[in-house]
Amino acid sequence: MANMNGKENPNREKINVVWFKRDLRFTDHEALHSAQKSKLPLLLIYCFEPSVMAYPDSDVRHWRFAYQSLMDMQSKLKGIQSQIYIFHQEVETVFKALQNHYQIDTIFSHEETGNKITFDRDIWVQKFCDVEGIIWKQYQQFGVIRGLKSRKNWEQKWEEKMCEFPKLVDEKKWNIIKLEDDFYESLKGEKLCNEIIHPDKNFQPGGETSAWRYLESFVKERHQNYSKHISKPALSRKSCSRLSPYLAYGNISMRMVYRYTRQHYKTSNHKRDLSNFISRLHWHCHFIQKFENECRMEFEHVNKGYDALIKPKNQQYIRAWEQGKTGVPLVDACMRCLVATGYINFRMRAMVISFFTFNLWQDWRELRFFLARQFLDYEPGIHYPQIQMQAGVTGVNTIRIYNPIKNAEEHDADGAFVKQWLSELKDIPAHLLYEPWKLSAMEQKLYHCKIGEDYPFPIVDMEESRKYASDLIWALRKDGTVKKEGKRILKKHVNLGDASQSNEIRS
Ligand SMILES: Cc1cc2nc3c(=O)[nH]c(=O)nc-3n(C[C@H](O)[C@H](O)[C@H](O)COP(=O)(O)OP(=O)(O)OC[C@H]3O[C@@H](n4cnc5c(N)ncnc54)[C@H](O)[C@@H]3O)c2cc1C
Repeated sequence: MANMNGKENPNREKINVVWFKRDLRFTDHEALHSAQKSKLPLLLIYCFEPSVMAYPDSDVRHWRFAYQSLMDMQSKLKGIQSQIYIFHQEVETVFKALQNHYQIDTIFSHEETGNKITFDRDIWVQKFCDVEGIIWKQYQQFGVIRGLKSRKNWEQKWEEKMCEFPKLVDEKKWNIIKLEDDFYESLKGEKLCNEIIHPDKNFQPGGETSAWRYLESFVKERHQNYSKHISKPALSRKSCSRLSPYLAYGNISMRMVYRYTRQHYKTSNHKRDLSNFISRLHWHCHFIQKFENECRMEFEHVNKGYDALIKPKNQQYIRAWEQGKTGVPLVDACMRCLVATGYINFRMRAMVISFFTFNLWQDWRELRFFLARQFLDYEPGIHYPQIQMQAGVTGVNTIRIYNPIKNAEEHDADGAFVKQWLSELKDIPAHLLYEPWKLSAMEQKLYHCKIGEDYPFPIVDMEESRKYASDLIWALRKDGTVKKEGKRILKKHVNLGDASQSNEIRS
């Protein structure tokens, strides 16, 4: 039994620890690969941290995905009678107890571009390591560079990183230690709740096996209509890769996705689709790099000029938007679909944010955590920069106020998506579906939907609210602080000489 109160065991065994975070895979795992080079026995750990799970961006869907990812890994370790030790405990408690019981030589993990609570936790771990004389080796995740001073040559460095040989684990070199049963029992923490442990078929399943299944089916087959369907709320679910949660939880490395796609590119008859997909892999890291360099974006306008923006909070609007009851069919269908399945495509994400921040004139900070909880692929480094971009508060990107009626006509022309999620509108023909408030009393009767009872009237006037927002947001764009900050942002986050990064400014 470990002594939890002090390092009283003078003969503590020297070990190394691989600390899994959002890198839940074995293939191309640099931390694990490096740890294997050491002769010391290896302990594999993962912590479900109560404080991180209680943070407002966290939802049970995320932890279920992480749990499934871990179970997939455990099944691969079973053959060698080993396991990853899973704790439902603060990292602080686990590392302190481990250090009391063993002598930790090195902790191996990947760098995490996380939210405030994981950022603070990592600072604690670094201090703990410094005090205890433990080496903490952190390896680069994705193409995101820590401590980056300039975006010059960033794309080239990204390419170089992706072209490096994958860091493969040597199956014969496993030297994994087993914790004593009593020690593990005393430390592992409470059982995880049933919602985490039990699968939910409405969501993509977590795990390296599923990640590869999604990648393979996309690159070999599903990518054929990638560009054509990317903006369509229903068809994108099949034609897009759907790799985002697997990248967010590290079930697959960006390098493997990139290399595998490049391999099949040569033989594909749909090269343009695969090129468009590859450019989005760059965007993934490009956005996370911004957040890595300026993580206050979780809380503050990246462009301080927008601190002057006044948006009175309207709780009724917020609730209606969250519940998919705004009276605007495409917005409501997207919100209900997102809550139920954890996914909507890029354009629909942008549109629901545009509706919230422009038409409802609400502050983006009122939606950031709610949306984070809904997205199964929640990745702080993409989430916050994208939200601010879509809310029109960066001062450098084109301001887009999406028209949900036009978008429904263009991207859900037969109404299949709206009808799937708004059953109260299912009998209305597609040409009348997107503005149900215009239905006559006779039509409402005919199509079994009384507006104001079965489905709400729009909570704001679409045209008036668009014009109000447009006038104010464009006027602020001319403000001196907004312009000055815009220059600073471009200098810090974008290499304008690079085509894909300057495209992002316009898109
Ligand atoms: C407000 C908002 C919030 C978002 N939050 C997230 C998030 O938390 N996590 C997340 O992974 N994506 C986020 N995105 C980006 C994008 O919507 C999703 O990556 C994409 O819809 C995931 O589907 P897919 O895997 O089928 O993408 P594909 O189209 O198949 O693209 C492949 C991969 O490229 C990356 N990617 C694609 N589009 C973008 C983009 N516009 N910006 C950055 N990376 C991109 C993703 O890793 C994605 O898995 C957000 C977009 C918006 C507008």
